[in-house]
Amino acid sequence: MSGVDLGMPSFPDAARQAVRDAQLRHNLGNATNTIRNKRAAVVGELDDWEQLRASGAAIKAHTLSNLDSYLEQFESAVTAAGGTVHWARDAAEANRIVTELVRETGETEAVKVKSMATQEIGLNEALASAGISAWETDLAELIVQLDEDRPSHILVPAIHRNRSEIREIFRREMAGSGTPAPADLTDDPVQLAEAARHHLRDKFLRARVAISGANFAVAETGGLVVVESEGNGRMCLTMPEHLISVVGIEKVVPSWRDLEVFLQLLPRSSTGERMNPYTSVLSGVTAGDGPSDFHVVLLDNGRSEALADEIGSQALRCIRCSACLNVCPVYERTGGHAYGSVYPGPIGAVLTPQLYGVESEDTASLPYASTLCGACYDVCPVAIEIPELLVHLRNRTVRERKGWFDRLTRTAMRAMGWVFGDSGRLARAQRVASLGGRLFGRRGIGRLPWPLSRWTDARDAPTPPAESFRQWWERTRTNDEDGR
Ligand code: SF4
Repeated sequence: MSGVDLGMPSFPDAARQAVRDAQLRHNLGNATNTIRNKRAAVVGELDDWEQLRASGAAIKAHTLSNLDSYLEQFESAVTAAGGTVHWARDAAEANRIVTELVRETGETEAVKVKSMATQEIGLNEALASAGISAWETDLAELIVQLDEDRPSHILVPAIHRNRSEIREIFRREMAGSGTPAPADLTDDPVQLAEAARHHLRDKFLRARVAISGANFAVAETGGLVVVESEGNGRMCLTMPEHLISVVGIEKVVPSWRDLEVFLQLLPRSSTGERMNPYTSVLSGVTAGDGPSDFHVVLLDNGRSEALADEIGSQALRCIRCSACLNVCPVYERTGGHAYGSVYPGPIGAVLTPQLYGVESEDTASLPYASTLCGACYDVCPVAIEIPELLVHLRNRTVRERKGWFDRLTRTAMRAMGWVFGDSGRLARAQRVASLGGRLFGRRGIGRLPWPLSRWTDARDAPTPPAESFRQWWERTRTNDEDGR
């Protein structure tokens, strides 16, 4: 796979900038803390949470091992229900298919349901360059779109904005794309939601084309499942005549029955609610009810390659709940923009390098954007071993990349392997390190000279202990009366 430059600064540079923004840190801290507490409370209500989690992981793992047959089953079911399935190898192909489908309708605008897959392929930009306006209808996505910003969170794309910033965006930008915000708009959440409702209403009433993603695609019935909190997604799925859904191939689940597990896991993990306010299921077309024209674009875009990696493929189990973002100490301080991709936080750090390869500096830096504390694994509703994946991908970046620093890292790691491979060598190395420890004492090492500064620029180099465990053991045990 050729490396893809995400067109952003790499994580270390972007993070350095982000952590200097006190307002951003304050907004993020408040929001993640609130969602974290809500999640913990509702998850704590279920005695069988761990069993549910294991079931979710098992269903996803089983589906991914048999993905080809479930996708074909899904295609047959959609076709039988009057829909059309398209297969897209990459972003360019998916964008071309969707653009042609919209053009065939003769329309130049579409309403959109919040969708990570369409963000991943840059669909709005592709449609805009074809003269088609795509309007986001999810409240947080609307804020981001009006501000010409990028989403910062999977579930709450405008998490980095507070209420007064949102009021300013509405007052400044709404008039340029439809119904303006009231002149006396305050930062009261009810007033902000009302302004968004008025702004979106004429778009819903006018639109003949809708574009969506899906949380799940049921192979057995060909049903697309969209879960959401606001009801705007349901308007998009039911009001327009033409519906085009872009769905990652990993979204398929075998049967209707499997949803029982995910519809418990997802709302509790994402919004801290017992169930989603709106769960819409769309299976094909029905005369006089909902869209009369239904297309599903099944998107690969690097997923097949990720699937071939025995350890890395776990990331495809993700149900995009965002729980791992809300507990991640790194995400909480940097926000989502620093990750340079539509998938931020711990899941972005393991998914993005797999979808785009690790050749470019920005994707290769992502597996290091974590403390490896394991909080992400603890909350993941499908038990993805994110810390294991991070280490696996760090290994991959060191093995595959060709720059001088990567060669230096490889050599250093080989040398470490040689030292650790023999107890005598390790003992001698520890004695040298102890000397260093005595030399630096309490002052600590701080910043190392170039090229080791590449390491200490972003982290503290710990001072080696004045005495290693092995030395302590020898000193204290030889004084034992038993001589043990
Ligand atoms: S990796 Fe797990 S916790 Fe993170 S978004 Fe995906 S399902 Fe949720």
